[in-house]
Amino acid sequence: MKLIFEKSRPGLGCSILAPCDVPDAPLPARLTRKKPARLPSLDENQISRHYSALAKRVFGVNDGFYPLGSCTMKYNPKLNEEMARLPGFTDIHPLQPEHTVRGCRKLLDTAARYLCEITGMDAVNFQPAAGAHGELTGLLLIKAGHESRGDTARKRIIIPDSAHGTNPASAVMAGFSVVNIASGPDGCIDLGALKAVTGPDTAGLMLTNPNTLGIFDPNILEITRIVHEAGGFNYYDGANLNAVAGIVRPGDMGFDVVHLNLHKTFSTPHGGGGPGSGVVGCKKTLAPFLPVAGDVMECDGAEHPHSIGRVRAFGGNFLVAVRAAAYLLTLGKEGLPQAAKNAVLNANYLMERLRAKLPPAYPGPCMHEFVVSLEKLKAEHGVSALDFAKALQDQGSCPGIHPPTIYFPLIVHEALMIEPTETESRETLDAAAEAFLAVYEQALTDGESLHAAPRTTVIGRPDEVKAARHPAVRFRGE
Ligand SMILES: *Cc1c(COP(=O)(O)O)cnc(C)c1O
Repeated sequence: MKLIFEKSRPGLGCSILAPCDVPDAPLPARLTRKKPARLPSLDENQISRHYSALAKRVFGVNDGFYPLGSCTMKYNPKLNEEMARLPGFTDIHPLQPEHTVRGCRKLLDTAARYLCEITGMDAVNFQPAAGAHGELTGLLLIKAGHESRGDTARKRIIIPDSAHGTNPASAVMAGFSVVNIASGPDGCIDLGALKAVTGPDTAGLMLTNPNTLGIFDPNILEITRIVHEAGGFNYYDGANLNAVAGIVRPGDMGFDVVHLNLHKTFSTPHGGGGPGSGVVGCKKTLAPFLPVAGDVMECDGAEHPHSIGRVRAFGGNFLVAVRAAAYLLTLGKEGLPQAAKNAVLNANYLMERLRAKLPPAYPGPCMHEFVVSLEKLKAEHGVSALDFAKALQDQGSCPGIHPPTIYFPLIVHEALMIEPTETESRETLDAAAEAFLAVYEQALTDGESLHAAPRTTVIGRPDEVKAARHPAVRFRGE
């Protein structure tokens, strides 16, 4: 398929934007272009066909089962999209006078109140635009918390080896060094290993619970106590709150800071790099350090001398908060824990359906996701997690099913990380189980054929090494 720039021909063009309804304001000369922007020129029909063709080449949650572990690719009710498109929410400007955006302010307050209640935190902030951004912000709060007491010796953040890759990256960006601790044979924190590394240089612990293996750590209270006793803070990576929302609260588990991905758990579609929200919440002790923006949508007029400053313009991605509020208002106090229970039930159902042939890497019931290792299949039949994932795309009626996350968490070799989510029916889970088992049988009988999968998709196997080493992410033109 040609790029839109390759389809462009001089002289074509159309205007599909509504005319501007405010007077032109001259830009300062230093901000204006020297040459006109190089934009493709096509007629409206061509543009429409171009994007329709692109839309047919992708796989989204609207196309089929999408069990991408850790990413929570669940169905997001269309109603919440409609709410986020109401003109009262979309046609506002962050510099508008406060009294003209009171409804929006109220909506943010409502969302904040619910998210505080769900996480057990005292304050939340909507500025961070993604999970990793929330992590950085939360870690800066921890840093500010220690520094405000004149304690500058706390330079280390403890992170288990099952953590999402963004955790150590964020810790380093925030100026900390990372102490990695190995998980125990049960996939949980090894208390001895934790005690051995906590001390006067501990700034805090970053933890995902349930962790990326889908296991809820039974020692969570002891873990957070150990860190608190050493003088550190506990950071909760709540990117996926699907298993516990409305059931247990990070605040009650002993965490001081948390981020949530509204674009995973709270109804904003994601995966295409669209706007997200890595809301940060914290306990009272750290609240004075939260970001402020000094603008109408964010600032309450009070002084914030201890704030870490702004981490993003204005109040963050407001429409993502609108979707979250709509989602929470629809589910209510009964619906939210029910959604979490269904997420756990669905994951356990699929795990049990696969167990005989594809046993989970760790024993016991799982939470919202589970991990399978194909190490044996690879050794005995030469079929890797990558082959398996690709082959799943050919299963069932086109467009097959989306592969699960693979090769993550890093501590499981040839990992498949499967998260069915609560929005799938039993019929879909049964069909998915059949698909996994069919690929497994094929791996035993004709493993060789799986190296060439997928055969039914528009693109088969891209050159992954080339894609990683020499990515072409920008059209460079003639
Ligand atoms: C997705 C995820 C993140 C990062 O979120 P982004 O919005 O992609 O930056 C962090 N931790 C966990 C456990 C996640 O699943």
